[in-house]
Amino acid sequence: MDKDTLMDKITSLAKRRGFIYQGSEIYGGLAGTWDYGPLGVALKNNIKDSWRKTFVSSQLDMYEVDAAILMHPGVWKASGHVDTFTDPLVECTKCKRRFRQDILKIPGICDDCGSPVTEPRQFNMMFSTKIGAVEDSAATVYLRPETAQGMFVNFKNVVDSFHPKLPFGMAQIGKAFRNEITPRDFIFRVREFEQMEIEYFVRPELWQESFEKFRTTMLSWMGSMGIAMDRVHELEVAEGDLAHYSKRTIDFEFDFPFGRKELYGLAYRTDFDLTSHKLDCVDEETAQKIVPHVIEPSFGVDRTVLALLTSAYTEDTTEVDKEPRVYLKFAPSVAPVVCAVSPLLKNKKELTDKAEQLFAILKKEFGNVMYDDNGNIGKRYRRQDEIGTPYCIVVDFDTLGENPDLLGTVTVRDRDTGTQQRIAVSELVNFLKKSLI
Ligand code: ATP
Repeated sequence: MDKDTLMDKITSLAKRRGFIYQGSEIYGGLAGTWDYGPLGVALKNNIKDSWRKTFVSSQLDMYEVDAAILMHPGVWKASGHVDTFTDPLVECTKCKRRFRQDILKIPGICDDCGSPVTEPRQFNMMFSTKIGAVEDSAATVYLRPETAQGMFVNFKNVVDSFHPKLPFGMAQIGKAFRNEITPRDFIFRVREFEQMEIEYFVRPELWQESFEKFRTTMLSWMGSMGIAMDRVHELEVAEGDLAHYSKRTIDFEFDFPFGRKELYGLAYRTDFDLTSHKLDCVDEETAQKIVPHVIEPSFGVDRTVLALLTSAYTEDTTEVDKEPRVYLKFAPSVAPVVCAVSPLLKNKKELTDKAEQLFAILKKEFGNVMYDDNGNIGKRYRRQDEIGTPYCIVVDFDTLGENPDLLGTVTVRDRDTGTQQRIAVSELVNFLKKSLI
């Protein structure tokens, strides 16, 4: 499929079905911001839950924090962001539009009108604001451009409260803000986004071991989420391109419809951060002071959403002369709705009573369950396919005993194959528990 068409289809489906809306849309939109609707929230929550389970709660040596978004300017001076968190900005000599120089489609040429652009100047991407009622420069603070520093500044707090032995890690999920010069490609490059990051503290001589372990776990987590692994590529960042704090970085790139771009990063940050903040700890083994080195796996939630949407988007064209059947083949663990319950007919009380009863049971058990009685069954299936619901459950007259052999059973339809089977209501919870793993 043509790349623009695919992005258009995904963006329009995401809006129409309540995943993602343009930020401040009724006021004409605010560039680089997107609002998540109910299904987008459910999808993001599933991503974050799965990440937390894999990287934090199932581990013995991980400590999660939730630091403030507004941080002292000294943090960003020490981290190098005030001086170096910049992108090269160029301006079109004719239409005056501004671009990030390194992502122009043709180097030196305006993406919009094809005229030459100016020489680049460095543009700091941090959003600043004033704290309190004082209007002087000492009151300037920044919205964090990454969650990482929120962990470094709490390193000593966690060490003092928990006395962890090396190696151990800190984790954080939260919003980050970057004044991107050219926000583009839907939720890929935005000005307000969410990150899931880990700072893993190791003895300097053992950094490679932890780096390798995270590399493997990151890949297996991506696979378990349903990211198309044949579209994931590891890029060993060349020495000359490494960030100032890094001795080794792997970018995990993904083939998005608009090209191969960074999805996540894994960096060896040496002792750069702890040394910059003048932090250390006591190594329990040697009873000596030590500045641990840091391995940082860094994930964007929004880029995960986009990678999942593009991995899951499928058009089934097997039925000739019919509109293709569009479905999102989400892994059950990330699907925003795990199953939908329908009465065969909306206006038959015996059917709706039974369907509502079943819905209440499943809702209590699985949370993200939808009741759907709009339009005919075929239309409901199509609607659920489009949002990636793995199973549709229909209460019909056989459920109620029209065919005595099928009394107490419901139709369960599989999203990907479209096949239907009858399952006893008493077995339904067990069936779904097994199938939704
Ligand atoms: P890029 O080169 O694409 O600008 P980056 O190398 O600056 O990204 P990092 O600073 O490594 O990104 O941020 C860690 C992760 O946060 C990225 O891998 C990505 O998933 C996410 N991320 C970074 N910037 C943005 C953004 N503007 N919009 C959405 N997600 C982002």
